[in-house]
Amino acid sequence: CGMRRLATATQSSVPSGSLLYPMTNLSSLRGSQPLRIVAGKGAKVYDDTGKEYLEAMAGLWCTALGWGHEELVDAATRQMRNLSYYHCFAGRQVPIAEELADKLISLAPDTLQGGKVFFGMSGSDANDTQVRLLWHYNTVRGLPQKRKIIGRVHGYHGVTVASGSITGLPHVHAQMGLPLDFVRHVSCPSFYRYGRDGESEAEFVRRLAAELEELILAEGPDQVAAFFAEPLQGAGGVILPHLAAQWTPAIFAGFETLQRPSGYFPAMREVCDRYDVMVVGDEVITGFGRTGKMWGCTAFQQTVDLLSCAKQLTSGYVPLSAAILPRFMYDAIEASTERRGGVFGHGYTYTGHPVSCAVALKLLEIYEREQLLERVAQLAPQFQRRLSGLGEHPLVGDARGIGLIGAIELVKEKETKQPFDASRAMAAKVVQFALERGLIVRVLPNDVVSICPPLIVSSAEVDEIFDRLEGALSDAL
Ligand code: PLP
Repeated sequence: CGMRRLATATQSSVPSGSLLYPMTNLSSLRGSQPLRIVAGKGAKVYDDTGKEYLEAMAGLWCTALGWGHEELVDAATRQMRNLSYYHCFAGRQVPIAEELADKLISLAPDTLQGGKVFFGMSGSDANDTQVRLLWHYNTVRGLPQKRKIIGRVHGYHGVTVASGSITGLPHVHAQMGLPLDFVRHVSCPSFYRYGRDGESEAEFVRRLAAELEELILAEGPDQVAAFFAEPLQGAGGVILPHLAAQWTPAIFAGFETLQRPSGYFPAMREVCDRYDVMVVGDEVITGFGRTGKMWGCTAFQQTVDLLSCAKQLTSGYVPLSAAILPRFMYDAIEASTERRGGVFGHGYTYTGHPVSCAVALKLLEIYEREQLLERVAQLAPQFQRRLSGLGEHPLVGDARGIGLIGAIELVKEKETKQPFDASRAMAAKVVQFALERGLIVRVLPNDVVSICPPLIVSSAEVDEIFDRLEGALSDAL
């Protein structure tokens, strides 16, 4: 096919010796042949030999509209021709950035209506921006010591020094002296993995809320600025906190048997409210329809004060992130610059990059025109039914998901949930077999395999994804 010819014609097959690979066991690269993806169309990508893969991870959870979407390409090139770059420093106006900010606020959860948007380039920098906004806000309201941030075990918020500290994954901290001292972590809300013998889901939630409260009291409520949480923990293992009451049966039909703690976010919020601790919703994966709702926080009854998003905002075509803050924070920061004559000293060269904003505006137009959220809601029952079907497999301890995202947790023994000895080794085996069958899925900590296809995936492709994954599980047995 044309795409295969393109793949083989445009790339040499000699691996580069100069590239430092991110999030990679570097010694494992010695003498190995890494997968070399060189082209993509729709939900499929092609390697340098022309082999086709169903890309069931949307790259890194980001390519909502798949590869080769001509309208996004046109939006980017049109913008590059017209105004390839300008910046918003010192109040310069870049109209397309203003237009996108207005659009995002119009789509934002209720608590952020009337709020403001700060643009960056990545999920990591959006979360760093949130930390700086929180510190700035607390300082100008006379609480400069209110700086501590609480993250969660298995949370993922990025890898910059602040966001990487809030991340709760040991491999992000190892050999780097992280987390920095302003960060603390509370437990992960996986009832499957961390619920105690005989403990109900409701008791589990109460225990986690009590743990948060004890931590805030131990640190001193006047020291604690915010609690960061993804609506569902993505890179930490696709861990869902609970089923929310307003979820429609149509989306979740066929997987009611999964165990999840109920009321998790409302319970955590209550504690935060008691001690004037803000809730930051990290929607870098869940934003823009992944769960079947525009925002994951809506799906999980998480009330947020600040919200970070990136990834699907541009479908990964160009880098863009947004840190959204509430009006009351903005007003306090703005008033302080008047009083003290200072500037709000935060901003990147690429804040409000016009090409990224043009792509995001086009993406949101396509979402509305093609009713992407409804499409996710339509496909989700099939996706989730097939996913929970994998739960029957002898290697699978837990199969969990929502909308078009899911994961299987592999175990040595189903009854006792006993993990395999070498964490990730079995998941890595399954992922490798999947690759051989032309399917890209991903290994996550604790022998989890994640699935997160582009939102434009077809019903036939959903079946194909699960057929191939089932095959890979059998290969690994
Ligand atoms: N927050 C969440 C929830 C993420 O999943 C990620 C990346 O996967 C990030 C933040 C970091 O984003 P980036 O890799 O763009 O810095």
